[in-house]
Amino acid sequence: MHADHLALDLAVTIRHDGHGGVADDLADPAALTGWVRAHADGLRADLTAGPYTAATFTADAAALAAALDVRTAVRSLFARAVLPGPPSSADAGRLPSARQALDRLNAAAALVPVTPRLDWPQDGPATASRTVAGTPAAADLLAAALARHAIGFLTSPDLDLLRACPAPRCVRYFVKEHARQEWCKPACGNRARVARHHARHRTGPGSGGAG
Ligand SMILES: [Zn+2]
Repeated sequence: MHADHLALDLAVTIRHDGHGGVADDLADPAALTGWVRAHADGLRADLTAGPYTAATFTADAAALAAALDVRTAVRSLFARAVLPGPPSSADAGRLPSARQALDRLNAAAALVPVTPRLDWPQDGPATASRTVAGTPAAADLLAAALARHAIGFLTSPDLDLLRACPAPRCVRYFVKEHARQEWCKPACGNRARVARHHARHRTGPGSGGAG
């Protein structure tokens, strides 16, 4: 069974833009709306409350700010998880401390009370779901949902397999799918090999310090 990677999907909405800079896939509320709806399967139970469903969720500025707050906390805790390795270069020196990130994540998770629920139909397996009490604000509902998924991921066995991709310019985190996987995707491996090749040729023999 695959662990829940929604928090990883959230973290990697900060990505390399292909031109040496960093792009943000959640640059405005419409972009967040698209992201939430694309993850409606994973968020269905979390965002079904009052008038809301994951498939029709529409983010406003408050929801965007709340989601980005959780994302920043997640990236801070990812940076801690990959120690002693370096964090994603997109974050160097720009993240809250792990202590602040924990407080932020727990505060977001506490915004909305959630009740676990067991269903066990006569002709099928038992399934657990969660129901949200009352009708919270959209921003609180989303922030709490993202925080719960982050807590789930950060306490799953997959955390040990989390890496910051070391390829030049790449800012992605990824979960290793096999023991020898070094890069988030094959294109990053190719780019890293080309960069090493050029570095060797630039430095050349006798100039010292190559390696
Ligand atoms: Zn990469």
